Parts: sequence; structure tokens; C-alpha cells
Amino acid sequence: MTLHPPLPVADDLSKPFWEGINARKLLVQRCAECRRLQFPPDASCASCSSTELSFEGVSGRGTVYSFTETVSGARHPYFQSISPYLVGFVQLEEQDGLIFASNFPGSKYADLEIGAPVELVFQEIADGAVIPQFRLCAAQQNGALR
Ligand SMILES: [Zn+2]
Repeated sequence: MTLHPPLPVADDLSKPFWEGINARKLLVQRCAECRRLQFPPDASCASCSSTELSFEGVSGRGTVYSFTETVSGARHPYFQSISPYLVGFVQLEEQDGLIFASNFPGSKYADLEIGAPVELVFQEIADGAVIPQFRLCAAQQNGALR
């Protein structure tokens, strides 16, 4: 059996998001009342509690908000198999506080820094299962993608 990360399981709230990912688009919710964007999907707006939310696409560009390297303690067999691995958060360019988790595929710990520009990539983790990840923009990786 090939090891892979846990597969995404869509629920009613996240189904449009995962359909977007499968179509290679990054969709977040926008509130019709206060116009704020939010992620992860929720039944109401985190800012004004409106339930008038719809999904729209965002650029997939952002910056490293925080990161760390997980060296030990992974419980899932896949993450045990790839340890040490990177994990962190990305601030999308569209709005302060619009933040995604990522593993920064292709990067090493020494490559990352807070504020470094990143871009969205779609990673197929198993047959037909795609997740959004962020990688450093090419110029940030010492000129070469790894
Ligand atoms: Zn709102």
C-alpha cells in the first residue's frame, strides 16, 4: 500500500471549496453584507454573522505567515515516513487574516522566511485526490525549483 496524506473529506460547507480544488481553482467565501473574505468555509460570516456567503476565486498568491519543521511526533504513518517536514501558514494577498495551512513542497527549512512570496500549487496526493499547497516563488528558492 502506498502511503499518502489523509484524504480530504468534503462536507456540506466545504463541498464547493473541494470542487474548486478539483477544478484547479482556489475558492473562498465572501460575505455579501460586509464583503469580507473568509476561510475555512463556515455557515456564517466571522466578522458580521451574516449567512449571505458565496464562493469566489482568489489568486493563490501570498506570503509566508509562519512556519516550522516537524522533526518528530507525527502520528499518521505518511507524515512519519516523510519526517522531518515543513508546515506553516500562508497569508493570501487579497485580505489580512485570510490564511491557509501548507507544507511548502520543494522547499527546505533554510529556504523559508516570514514574508517570503509564495504561490499556489495543486498537489495530487492520491488517485483523484488533490490538495492546495503553497511553494516559494521561484526567485526565492536560490534560482532553482527543487
Ligand atoms: Zn460579513
